[in-house]
Amino acid sequence: MKRRLWVIPALLCMLCMTACSAAGTAAGVENGHDGRDSSSAGNAEEGAQDPVQTDFFAMDTYMTFTAYGDRAREALTLAEEEIRRLESEWSVTDEDSEIWKINHSGGQPVTLSDETAQIVRFALGMAEETDGALEPTIYPVLTAWGFTTDENRIPGEEELRSLLENVGYEKVELNGNQITLPAGMELDLGAVGKGYAGDLTAELLEEKGITSALLDIGGNVQAVGSRPDGTDWRLGLRNPYGEGSIGVLSVSDCAVVTSGDYERYFIGEDGKEYGHIIDPETGYPVDNGLASVTIITEEGKKGDALSTSMFVKGLEQAQEYWRTHPDFDMILITEDGQIYLTEGVQDRFELNGSFGNMEVHVITAD
Ligand code: ADP
Ligand code: MG
Repeated sequence: MKRRLWVIPALLCMLCMTACSAAGTAAGVENGHDGRDSSSAGNAEEGAQDPVQTDFFAMDTYMTFTAYGDRAREALTLAEEEIRRLESEWSVTDEDSEIWKINHSGGQPVTLSDETAQIVRFALGMAEETDGALEPTIYPVLTAWGFTTDENRIPGEEELRSLLENVGYEKVELNGNQITLPAGMELDLGAVGKGYAGDLTAELLEEKGITSALLDIGGNVQAVGSRPDGTDWRLGLRNPYGEGSIGVLSVSDCAVVTSGDYERYFIGEDGKEYGHIIDPETGYPVDNGLASVTIITEEGKKGDALSTSMFVKGLEQAQEYWRTHPDFDMILITEDGQIYLTEGVQDRFELNGSFGNMEVHVITAD
């Protein structure tokens, strides 16, 4: 039985996290760090350590980093610096960025830093693996829809057809650190860069001895370790139909990345909603009945690539992909109020009370 849910235009739309102080079940409470703690009477409700938090805007999104431990403040400052460094390297609009150089090379080879070559190689590899659902050269089409300037419009069929001639990851040549992008094409790391940034900052925190932190990179959440008391982080999964969260996911030490249409979209003159994730086959924003896709995986960059590409693939094809690449978990939410989740997270996800009557389907490996 399908239940039609109203779709309320969402404003602030990150995967909202609540590192809630749920009544921990863990007996052997383990503090993330030494800390002068107060876990005297066995009630670790108000943790042994206070979190250190920093909020900032970068990579076109809001970020909130939370960490525990003596060196948390210092580590978070370094993490923010790292994000800003990546932002300037990979910005599509900053003339000093490596991506800008590639996009203005007029078809001439460009030598990349090791790091940029590595992420471009990863993005091209994921494009191939997802049969082009992830398309790192979709940028000109995104521009035509106005998503890069916020001056949205609906491009004509002819315009899209001609733009799509300049789209295609397989036309990008990457040999070692040397990249050649045919003139007229543009490369954009928008669908994977934040995931990579999460991996890198998580590593940096770990190097600084942090064993408990949550990095919210505009909807991509990177969990370093577990909560200071050793229990799982409890992450609120963004409600794609409106405000608040739809349920809670309990996880440790992984990346949780969501893509959906509720975040960036516009309403066209025809009254339809157009989202910012483009189906590279048609040049049109994805409109396949999915409201959001959440990927749970070890690596943020992989989660990011998969959240975008599984959203493009849609309900059936995303399940097929998972069955042949079962090294991640996912939660798919449809526009008509159903939830599909892979078996690995079925016991880790709890719907919030008001969503308790949504239909839940478990995706199994068979
Ligand atoms: P967000 O960055 O908003 O969290 P995603 O990770 O899903 O969401 O990335 C969406 C961004 O990726 C778009 O804003 C656009 O820059 C780019 N993009 C849109 N469609 C595609 C696609 N099919 N393949 C790769 N990148 C895409
Ligand atoms: Mg993505």
